[in-house]
Amino acid sequence: MEWKLELIRSCFNEEDADAILSIPLSLHRSKDRMIWAKTPCGKYTVKSAYRLAYEENRDGGKADCSNPSARKKVWKGLWRMNLPQKVKHFAWKACRDILASKEALRQRHIAVEGGCVLCGDSMENIIHILWFCAHAKEVWASSKFTFPFNIGPNCSFLHVMEKLQRHQESQPGLTERFVSVCWGIWKERNVVRTSGMGKPGRITLKNSLGLMDEYQMAEGPRKPAAVIPETIRWKPP
Ligand SMILES: [Zn+2]
Repeated sequence: MEWKLELIRSCFNEEDADAILSIPLSLHRSKDRMIWAKTPCGKYTVKSAYRLAYEENRDGGKADCSNPSARKKVWKGLWRMNLPQKVKHFAWKACRDILASKEALRQRHIAVEGGCVLCGDSMENIIHILWFCAHAKEVWASSKFTFPFNIGPNCSFLHVMEKLQRHQESQPGLTERFVSVCWGIWKERNVVRTSGMGKPGRITLKNSLGLMDEYQMAEGPRKPAAVIPETIRWKPP
């Protein structure tokens, strides 16, 4: 079974179509069904929705990260990045761990076969695809970027973003370059999944940084946040 590529491309915008096409189809021809990701059984309960709303409200984002104020900073920094909207959306989804890697789909009770699309490793989660996969390693090796911290197999994308933003001043632009390259690797993974044809890592790198450069040249440098004048409150005489 395969996705109807042309039909999906004609019905959805590029980003949504890519997201749909990145979902591997089950080999068992099981019926489509709706799944609620916040309960182990996949069924919606008011209690789980209440918990989700409470956590979102409390943390301003994903609930299982250690420091709520640091996390708020990540969201703020993420949406302020001087990158195309679709790349920022990708980063947001990666932070929320809602990109359709095989591991993420399994956690949502969707039956998917096999391991990593690119290297065959048994664990295809987002940090594997973007960092530990053979293809990702090839891309990063050709980038010559130096990261001021280690990325371990148990790191989440959110955690990496948090660390990158902490080093923003000493390494300006590294977060944007990192996110752009990750986006390129994710795109490449989806191309290989649908067409089976892959590009060398250095081409993935060149294309993703090229897109970033082109965007930033057209947009100009990111303006500093506007200073909001202090509100003068009326006081009784
Ligand atoms: Zn892999």
